[in-house]
Amino acid sequence: MDTILVANSGSSSVKFQVFATGPDGGLERQVRGQVDGIGTHPRLRATDTDRKVLVERSLDNQTVPDVQAALIAAGNWLRDELRIAPVAIGHRVVHGGPLFERPVRVDSGVLQQLEKYVPLAPLHQPYNLAAIRSVLARFPDIPQVACFDTAFHRGHGELADRYAIPQDLYAEGVRRYGFHGLSYEYIASILPQVAPEIASTRVIVAHLGSGASMCALQARRSVESTMGFTALDGIPMGTRPGQIDPGVVLYLMSEKGMSPADAQAFLYHECGLKGLSGISNDMRELENSSDPRAQFAIDYFAYRVALNAGMLAAAMQGVDGFVFTAGIGENSPKVRAAIAARLAWLGVSLDPGANARNEQRVSRYESRTPAYVVRTDEELMIARHTVTLLAPGPHPSQYEKAS
Ligand code: ADP
Repeated sequence: MDTILVANSGSSSVKFQVFATGPDGGLERQVRGQVDGIGTHPRLRATDTDRKVLVERSLDNQTVPDVQAALIAAGNWLRDELRIAPVAIGHRVVHGGPLFERPVRVDSGVLQQLEKYVPLAPLHQPYNLAAIRSVLARFPDIPQVACFDTAFHRGHGELADRYAIPQDLYAEGVRRYGFHGLSYEYIASILPQVAPEIASTRVIVAHLGSGASMCALQARRSVESTMGFTALDGIPMGTRPGQIDPGVVLYLMSEKGMSPADAQAFLYHECGLKGLSGISNDMRELENSSDPRAQFAIDYFAYRVALNAGMLAAAMQGVDGFVFTAGIGENSPKVRAAIAARLAWLGVSLDPGANARNEQRVSRYESRTPAYVVRTDEELMIARHTVTLLAPGPHPSQYEKAS
């Protein structure tokens, strides 16, 4: 049985999963793991599918100083102790820029192209690419596939894709890309099974995790997103503000003396639920707090999600279904209820019992717009893409220019 390694490499952690490919082309998850604390106290931890711990150990900071070394250390552990030698690696890569509208097998030419998008996703792209580069250097024969968070949105029409700025900036890539595409693509792929009544209609999907965005799906294709050029726009997140007047950023720089790097750090790490509440970026902590600022942050979050639902409904000229996903969307009845209460005008009516039990369909039978909770699985989506792209047979061109 062949195995595929899926890697999601960030600044201080590498998350990985192993999937076995079955004879029927199906994929079975075998291992979930991560190396975290990179740069300070790296630790390797992994579990099997029954959540049994397979390994939990500290790694030497000298031998595992960075993301590249962390992925190699995880690969060595898989090979030496589990006898797993992946035949291919699928990587999550945040930005595919205007050029890549589907996953691509990475060689040094593709890597060079992807380097150009580092300024578009400075906190993620360098680490995504560093991991690919180190495998390419050490194991050039292992096929690697880059799967982009932007790709699923590349079919947006020009109205959705542009800012009201001069054309030459659009031409050089200043566009409304949208992110969390692997999550939305997975949801779109399983809607026919989990919510057949809405699968081919107009659906708003709310990916509410530490990072959060929303997507308008029309017949399972993305037509609009709340995120744009970077993963800062849209709804508030754990530590990012979501939509903010660019004048605020100018004010921070002209009046508060922030450099571009200061403003970047502020917008990515100090805002959102954390900045608003002054308590935490973590929704669970806010729900458990009796501080009124925590309740205000939750109300604000629900308000902004609902405002953006109105925008996405306008993009599709209506809405026929609503899907909650990711950490908050899948697990928080309280936040779902707060959002749904503001969506009554769009026909959403939650069933309090089904919502409290985190059932798959959380709306009442008579709700004009059915609402669902669907667990996302970005890693499975990456594994699927990796298998499909490496299967023998014709494939679309690697370089697909967006029109
Ligand atoms: P990411 O993958 O972007 O790091 P997740 O999708 O794991 O984020 O979502 C993390 C968020 O989900 C956190 O704000 C966390 O508090 C929230 N969350 C997870 N479980 C619950 C729960 N039971 N109730 C409320 N919020 C939850």
